[in-house]
Amino acid sequence: MAKNIQSIRGMNDCLPADIQFWQKIENKLKQILASYGFSEIRTPMVEQTSLFSRAIGEITDVVEKEMYTFDDRDGDSLTLRPENTAGCVRAGIEHGLLYNQQQRLWYLGPMFRYERPQKGRYRQFHQLGVEVFGLAGPDIDAELIMMTARWWRELGIDKYVSLELNSIGSLAARAKYRQVLVTFLQQYENKLDEDYRHGLSTNPLRILDSKNINVQKLLNDAPLFADYLDDDSKQHFAILCKLLDATGVKYRINQRLVRGLDYYNRTVFEWVTDSLGAQGTICAGGRYDGLVEQLDGRSTSAVGFAMGMERIVLLVRQINPDFVAECNLVDVYLMACGETSQQAILVLAEKIRDELPGLKLMTHHGGGNIKKKLARADKYQAKIALILGEDECQYGQVTIKDLRTGEQEKFFQQQIAIRLTELLT
Ligand code: ATP
Ligand code: MG
Repeated sequence: MAKNIQSIRGMNDCLPADIQFWQKIENKLKQILASYGFSEIRTPMVEQTSLFSRAIGEITDVVEKEMYTFDDRDGDSLTLRPENTAGCVRAGIEHGLLYNQQQRLWYLGPMFRYERPQKGRYRQFHQLGVEVFGLAGPDIDAELIMMTARWWRELGIDKYVSLELNSIGSLAARAKYRQVLVTFLQQYENKLDEDYRHGLSTNPLRILDSKNINVQKLLNDAPLFADYLDDDSKQHFAILCKLLDATGVKYRINQRLVRGLDYYNRTVFEWVTDSLGAQGTICAGGRYDGLVEQLDGRSTSAVGFAMGMERIVLLVRQINPDFVAECNLVDVYLMACGETSQQAILVLAEKIRDELPGLKLMTHHGGGNIKKKLARADKYQAKIALILGEDECQYGQVTIKDLRTGEQEKFFQQQIAIRLTELLT
């Protein structure tokens, strides 16, 4: 027998039972974004491969190992977006949204990375990201972080997440530190495994992030980033810390936080949790003042972050399962009785929906006796059943059965909206 076709490994369906969590979380976060003056941007899920290799950097995990890249029928190399900062910058340059302007943007959508699927790590996952263009000061960095802190409070997970913060300075400062770090790490080259020896020649700052305990031990004696920061970045960072202190956002300065993508400078941050096992980073970002220019736009300051929706949904479900109160699908279930035609109930249903647009009204389809139809109404946890029999049709009435009390009455269809409103409020 042929095997059923299944979804692609690491790419999940979101079924009706799960969608309520997603929608409630998304709605809450969108409402907060609006309260800070952000606008949504939607860009394509596929971009030219060179956009990502140039923006993210050739020698990064994402570009080296994780991209879904393919040739389209013209032989152009395209890639399913692994992140969306590059896409936003591309769109911003293409449509003239950036130079000499301010933009506060957000996006929400699927991203694709060829990774080993496990809890909190998938091949298609969703990010809610924010990108701000045209603002260079630490105050906007602070405001972005404050907004994320508000997200966690509103989702009821604020006690379970913490903020790690660092400054990785200017490009020049980073180049200087990189040299010093490489010289330090070279002394121990034989202690590093193959991956890190490779890293040493390609992306040595990433070694600071290593989860390997031996490497971490060795790093205890490594030169500190802070000692190589340029003065402007130092001051930028000091003000950011002061602003966070003033608004009560707690953070830990983590000098080893460097982030995996090449385009960051100055502020970098991550929100982490202990509650999800290995996949503990729920939200990460920072400044990327050089990226617009790097992609051939005119120099524009930029700062942003991306949050992993799957990890947030997991966390909210685990910590705050009552976040989504049980929500009924149907308020009113409308059914025909006897010889009444399906046409009559569809016409009545449309009339009621015209008058009560917020009402959740489901009509019965598929026949059966009245007992079966009422059982359906119960299954959907409807509060009221409307029954349209031949008599009711003839006199322009409808029977209203309150399924909570069992009480039943006949009512004129003309006034049905008023009666339903009374019964349901
Ligand atoms: P990680 O270290 O977990 O691989 P990252 O540094 O690759 O994360 P970013 O590129 O900064 O992640 O993406 C921002 C956020 O998107 C992450 O903090 C995480 O919450 C989420 N994320 C990244 N990759 C995945 C994935 N494969 N599946 C689910 N969520 C992901
Ligand atoms: Mg990753």
